[in-house]
Amino acid sequence: MIKPEKPANEAIRLAALYRYNILDSQKEKSFDDLVTIAKAVCGASMAAVTLIDAERQWFKSIEGVDAQELPRSESMCGHAILQPSEVMVVEDACQDARFHDNPNVTGDPKVRFYAGAPLINTDGLALGTLCVFDPQPHRLDHQQTEALAALSRQVMLVMELRRFALDIQSHMLERDDYEKLLAEYHDVLLAQNADLAEQSRTDVLTGLPNRRAMSVALEASVQDADGQPRQTAVALVDIDHFKHINDFNGHATGDRVLAELGVLLRAQFAGRGLAARYGGEEFVVLMPDTELRTAELQCDFLRMAVADLPLGFPVTVSIGVAAHRPGDTVDQTVARAHAALYKAKGNGRNRVETAP
Ligand code: GH3
Ligand code: MG
Ligand code: MG
Repeated sequence: MIKPEKPANEAIRLAALYRYNILDSQKEKSFDDLVTIAKAVCGASMAAVTLIDAERQWFKSIEGVDAQELPRSESMCGHAILQPSEVMVVEDACQDARFHDNPNVTGDPKVRFYAGAPLINTDGLALGTLCVFDPQPHRLDHQQTEALAALSRQVMLVMELRRFALDIQSHMLERDDYEKLLAEYHDVLLAQNADLAEQSRTDVLTGLPNRRAMSVALEASVQDADGQPRQTAVALVDIDHFKHINDFNGHATGDRVLAELGVLLRAQFAGRGLAARYGGEEFVVLMPDTELRTAELQCDFLRMAVADLPLGFPVTVSIGVAAHRPGDTVDQTVARAHAALYKAKGNGRNRVETAP
């Protein structure tokens, strides 16, 4: 037996074959159909689409005999691909020096006749064959040989279409993955935006809402969902002589006082109002659904709680309170609270004054 040589372009031939992702794939009807036609046209009892791998020939489709693959060394198709432009015909293998002692000739399926048309890709590389074979010696006329060659080109076409379909599929999968990734990025961005929005509404030192957040809350608080006016009290809280606190204890201690006051305000008005840092050493408290008298009392509790803070030095606040008047703007109410605050400062500090 003469083993088939490997073609000179074996490495690129194999690389080309592997790009089809066809070796060890499932049976496919379009290949089986072409094998059926080849068998009928050539009057043979067996036919196959076979691909020549490095050390084996693998059948994409085979009829008339059960086989999945054969060693390349025994392969008749391995010889056929050595002349890519020709259909290799062996009329009687027993009379052929290359095949007379081939195990497929001496043993099952006892091949005598063989014809193989190489499967040639667009680069002229022979990847396998469309072959017909039979246990009886046989010959092909010119038309049959041409038909077998034509069918081998159809096999190649099916291989190309199959690869094209696989490419499209994998692109679609990639696109799906890409879209998933985009959706994830989008979620991350949304979360970051929410974070930024939160940061832009929060005062870093005290953790309280800042002036901007308070303006929004104030606007929302002075009327109900139907646009009807709602009773709302607004208090401005200013630390007394804070400049001295800074001057005597240092700016860092001043910051600590602001932070402690933030904690106290938050605790004091949790559930019944909103405290915010208005700027510098001033805070604003919004008390929805609260009468002026009640607001004044609550502010006085706050004032006493501040005076009791165990800071190591005395800290007091002055507070001005105003009840929002229907028809006024929020700014007018804040201005009235400010006026009340000035009154508290003027009246000796550490006290609460209400706007008329
Ligand atoms: P008054 O009783 O009249 O309110 O006197 P005051 O000293 O509290 O008022 P003034 O407006 O003269 O001074 C406020 C000081 O608050 C000045 C400023 O340096 C200080 N201050 C403003 N923001 C901060 C801050 O974030 N940290 C610290 N440590 N000090 C601040
Ligand atoms: Mg001030
Ligand atoms: Mg002050």
